[in-house]
Amino acid sequence: MAKTNKYALVTGGSRGIGREISLKLGGCGYHVLVNYKSNAAEAEKTLSGIRAAGGDGEALQFDVASGDESTAAIEAWQKAHVGACIEVVVNNAGIRDDVLMMWMEPQQWHSVIGTSLDGFYNVTRPLLKGMLVNIVSLSGIKGLPGQANYAAAKGGVIAATKALAQEVAKKGVTVNAIAPGFVRTDMTADIDEAELRKQIPAGRFCEPAEVADLAMFLISEQASYITGEVISINGGLYT
Ligand code: NAP
Repeated sequence: MAKTNKYALVTGGSRGIGREISLKLGGCGYHVLVNYKSNAAEAEKTLSGIRAAGGDGEALQFDVASGDESTAAIEAWQKAHVGACIEVVVNNAGIRDDVLMMWMEPQQWHSVIGTSLDGFYNVTRPLLKGMLVNIVSLSGIKGLPGQANYAAAKGGVIAATKALAQEVAKKGVTVNAIAPGFVRTDMTADIDEAELRKQIPAGRFCEPAEVADLAMFLISEQASYITGEVISINGGLYT
């Protein structure tokens, strides 16, 4: 039995940016559904953090890239919680698999697009009543070499954000995207931060908690007139 009737779903909530968003949602009284693909132990760590702060939640395993898995998991949860409404959906799950286009295998194209863009569709469509925050990327605005797959995936979610925002605005539902630059998570663990930060005007990588703060603002009452926007958080790297 949940301690609250405010529910939020964070895809890829087991690690990195998704974990920080889950912790902050838990701290604001949401019962957080922490989705993950395969890392049950990390999802449990997120939940422990939420509970240590007095909140609660549950882990929800499914691969967002799979329509069948996403539908089955969401429908099963809804059947077990009749009348419960997921008020906030954060489409955060994402992967990168960088390679120049000339060497990009079909699987590298499809897995990256599948996770971010199909994942957005698979999770959003059954949960359209919820406030939506989509985690995209600087790469989806500017494009970065070696990331044709990732830039296409994130650029697609940006366009879908703008379209969907106009479809649901009358219902009081906002749909926004956050485009981070470089954030210190497992995803960027292989990047030479010391070298790269010379190019970042702010002189450092972003912390996952800073992205989470922005997400919390976008789902707050104060942001209720902001919709269809893509907000960059990149230390001045590109605006
Ligand atoms: P991360 O630390 O690598 O964590 C990725 C998360 O996504 C994990 O929780 C992972 O679950 C989950 N995930 C991956 N594929 C999934 C799938 N098919 N189904 C369900 N969950 C899946 O990544 P991050 O840096 O926090 O990135 C989060 C989001 O921010 C991504 O969309 C990423 O593209 C975007 N972003 C990141 C940066 C950056 O610099 N880090 C910059 C711009 C945008 P498991 O734990 O089970 O693997």
